[in-house]
Amino acid sequence: MNIYGLTYDELENIFVDMGSKKFHGNQLFSWLYEKRINSYDEATNIKKELRSEIESKYSIDKLKIVNIEKDVDVIKYLFELNDKEHIEAVLMRHDYGNSVCVSSQVGCNMGCKFCESGRRKKVRNLETYEMVLQILQIEEDLGERISHVVIMGIGEPFDNYDNVIKFIKIINHPKGLAIGARHITVSTCGIVPKIEEFSNLELQVNLAISLHAPNNTLRNKLMPINKVYPLEVLIPSLKEYIKKTNRRLTFEYILLEGINDGIDNALELSKLVKGMNCYINLIPYNETNNIEFKRSKTVQIMRFYDILKKNRINVTIRREFGSNISAACGQLRSKKEDL
Ligand code: SAH
Repeated sequence: MNIYGLTYDELENIFVDMGSKKFHGNQLFSWLYEKRINSYDEATNIKKELRSEIESKYSIDKLKIVNIEKDVDVIKYLFELNDKEHIEAVLMRHDYGNSVCVSSQVGCNMGCKFCESGRRKKVRNLETYEMVLQILQIEEDLGERISHVVIMGIGEPFDNYDNVIKFIKIINHPKGLAIGARHITVSTCGIVPKIEEFSNLELQVNLAISLHAPNNTLRNKLMPINKVYPLEVLIPSLKEYIKKTNRRLTFEYILLEGINDGIDNALELSKLVKGMNCYINLIPYNETNNIEFKRSKTVQIMRFYDILKKNRINVTIRREFGSNISAACGQLRSKKEDL
């Protein structure tokens, strides 16, 4: 077990369980996240015996950064985990701050046809500490604060729900990394029972849904999860989410040339989301060598955008980062492991 996987409350409790005082939890949390110690010996206001006891139970080791690729406003990190698996995280500089895209699993079982990460089946879920350390270590490498986090890297976060929620609690905690809930976004391909669970959490975290198609026939072809939770099940669960949380939802829609970027698709999409408190983020597809889909031409992207606008749907086109540096989700890992 690793100390960076414990929430504030859990850290307090382990001191109580050791027969000591709760406030040491507060002290250690502050050593870890404010003072950024690398060894328990540095936590000088906690008695030596207590420190040794914690050390015997919880490792304080970090992940190994094995590759860094840089481009304008973007840095891609490849991490090696203890079992030698690799995951990616991406730092993006915006005018509003630094955001990091974190991975939630090694591999992914969702099998979306356009996705590089999904070419490798899930090996395992990431532990909470492996997500926390992606953020902490990028902050340290950069020497700057991370203000925004998107859980949109390798993996399906709602297929690793409990660890992801714990991760959110740790980075959101005012004494942890203090990243505001409104600055955290979790993205899912649409696992409905987890969307329902998420709706009941009293966290102000943003939810994004990878939609990518406005009808079941097309969505079934692109995203196998749609056969389990088709649109007539997914959309009502999202309406319920909006009602319960009073929050605006994001739909992600990758534009794939000749597949889902037609005028008819745009009209059908407008109808599907009409009246929902949402906005659509159009994503220019990142092509990869291993998958045959092509990115829509810019005129087609603009045409699609205009139709949504005309239908009074909130829509944006995602700004692109780092197409020169293996930017497509999962490319850095597949380059490293040649899979
Ligand atoms: N499994 C989650 C989160 C990870 S994928 C989900 O499905 O939302 C994050 C986003 O990147 C998803 O919208 C996914 O569909 C999209 N994506 C995957 N491959 C892509 C590519 N090559 N180019 C652009 N977006 C891609």
